Amino acid sequence: MSAAPGTADSAASVFHLLEPRLPSVSKPIQYVGGELNSVVKDWNCGAPTPMGQTVRWALMYPDAYEVGLPNQGVQILYEVLNERDWIVAERTYAVWPDMEKVMREDSIPQFTVDSHRPVGAFDVFGLSFSTELGYTNMLTALDLAGIPLHAADRTDEHPVVLAGGHAAFNPEPIADFVDAAVLGDGEEVVLAISEVIREWKAEGRPGGRDELLRRLAVSGGVYVPRFYDVTYGADGSIEAVVPNRPGIPFRVRKHTLMDLDAWPYPANPLVPLAETVHERFSVEIFRGCTRGCRFCQAGMITRPVRERSLSTIGAMVENGIRKSGFEEVGLLSLSSADHTEIGDLATDLADRYEGSNVSLSLPSTRVDAFNITLANEFSRNGRRSGLTFAPEGGSDRMRKVINKMVDEEDLIRTVATAYSHGWRQVKLYFMVGLPTETDDDVLQIADLAKRVIAKGREVSGRNDIRCTVSIGGFVPKPHTPFQWAAQLDHETTDERLRKLRETVRDDKKYGRAIGFRYHDGKPGIVEGLLSRGDRRVGRIIEEVWRDGGRFDGWSEHFSYDRWMASAQKALAGTGVDVEWYTTRERDYDEVLPWDHLDSGLDKDWLWSDWEDALAAADGADIEVEDCRWTPCYDCGVCPEMGTEIQIGPTGQRLLPLSVV
Ligand code: SF4
Repeated sequence: MSAAPGTADSAASVFHLLEPRLPSVSKPIQYVGGELNSVVKDWNCGAPTPMGQTVRWALMYPDAYEVGLPNQGVQILYEVLNERDWIVAERTYAVWPDMEKVMREDSIPQFTVDSHRPVGAFDVFGLSFSTELGYTNMLTALDLAGIPLHAADRTDEHPVVLAGGHAAFNPEPIADFVDAAVLGDGEEVVLAISEVIREWKAEGRPGGRDELLRRLAVSGGVYVPRFYDVTYGADGSIEAVVPNRPGIPFRVRKHTLMDLDAWPYPANPLVPLAETVHERFSVEIFRGCTRGCRFCQAGMITRPVRERSLSTIGAMVENGIRKSGFEEVGLLSLSSADHTEIGDLATDLADRYEGSNVSLSLPSTRVDAFNITLANEFSRNGRRSGLTFAPEGGSDRMRKVINKMVDEEDLIRTVATAYSHGWRQVKLYFMVGLPTETDDDVLQIADLAKRVIAKGREVSGRNDIRCTVSIGGFVPKPHTPFQWAAQLDHETTDERLRKLRETVRDDKKYGRAIGFRYHDGKPGIVEGLLSRGDRRVGRIIEEVWRDGGRFDGWSEHFSYDRWMASAQKALAGTGVDVEWYTTRERDYDEVLPWDHLDSGLDKDWLWSDWEDALAAADGADIEVEDCRWTPCYDCGVCPEMGTEIQIGPTGQRLLPLSVV
């Protein structure tokens, strides 16, 4: 009989099995752990504490190490959990297919990189999903870990499989595979969950797994799909989602961290051993966004805005550089230039690190001249290479539909300022497939890019001006005003992109100065299926995985045909298909799969905002302003969640102010 989870045998390191095989796999360094600032704790570190229990978390970002390690969310939770003397938190990442093969051949279970313990030995297996395309990687990890794929087949010996991250705002497609999901900010809820587990263990695990999940569910802050029954109507849509046990709440609420200054993480940033997608120290300068872009799920589900003060940001930057040795610092948020004290922050940080090897970066998305001033400050130590702006919609009409209130003249004025300050490259980000979009809206992207080049040449007097147009496909997301919208089919998406590419390429005067980056429309359809899917979509995910689907976020691994063939098989007899989930517009009355998951947004407000979008498409001049600077327009979040906007200016400056 196998040892119980958490005992010495089941938790022993598997490194002796792994090490001999490392030379035979690609990038073996990603599996060895031991990064600067990583933590290996005593497996029984909780024993001397009053309750005598250790709670153990295996945290996973379900992508390869190079993408997963820099993930802020996982790094923060790893640190928050490990700060408790009775919690062990370790990390695991998706293994590449060559490593998966080796692990299956040698019976090596999914392991953590910190101490190479089997994931199956932990109390919680927590996965952070920033995209739905990581779902098949979760199944690989579960299978390698020896954890049954289906939550219903798990016993007391298996960890609680917990999903978080933005995709967890609709976890229904993975409801069969996860035991629980949490919505919103993780810092406090992971500790609350740990407390519940510790108490349950200290009591001798009464009622087993089922009772533990019940205790988590009745808190109202942890969603346990098995405690909700979903019924479907004759037309295939959901009839109702209702709790199937007494005491289980009808709706599960998101978590909102209200004092970011009190949680200055990461304080000990992990320094990767292998090459990763971001090699910098990032500080989140605020959380949430109320600009009201209708396509933006991140902005909608992270409301309200909560800023970090300048003094905390300054201290975090200094500490992070000292602890990690990184030379680049990124100031992150959904729209960093909107921090109320961003001007002071830029000047103070630039003064402080001028002449040093520290470079500062700000993901620039706002289209206005002030952004150029900021970019100039941040580039004092470096070259003025490229600036990125995100008009998102190709025409003024489309930008009104999505509530991105930037007109073409604003953009041209902004890029003129950029080019006249010595910037040579401007990158413009757009989406294709937005609701009510026509070919003409997309072709206007080419006109805009040409005007940008022309203006750049004019103000700089140079010919080496470049503009890169980068295009992503729009995917309607839950908890946004576009959650009811029809997604554009991939054939039309590709056709629009083809026409745009030809228009750009055929232009003799400007075509060569315009770079064009885009993806075809097929992955967007799969993302759309997974984003707005219900529990029936889980069968497709499993079918795809059984057919070899892995790393769906990587174009070299993604197979649209596999997804479509699997969908046909898995949905047979249900009366619904991929088009039903993706290219179909929903009615107001339809029960959406995530309606019982409470992001705080009022459904009627979302619906009226959707109607405003359609009215704007027909020429109405309706703008939803940012509630940071205008009165509250009752989106529902603050009263529902008991939260409020937290913005400055606080008047506190960076300390010390001396130049280092
Ligand atoms: S409830 Fe009002 S103040 Fe709060 S995020 Fe919504 S619109 Fe803004």
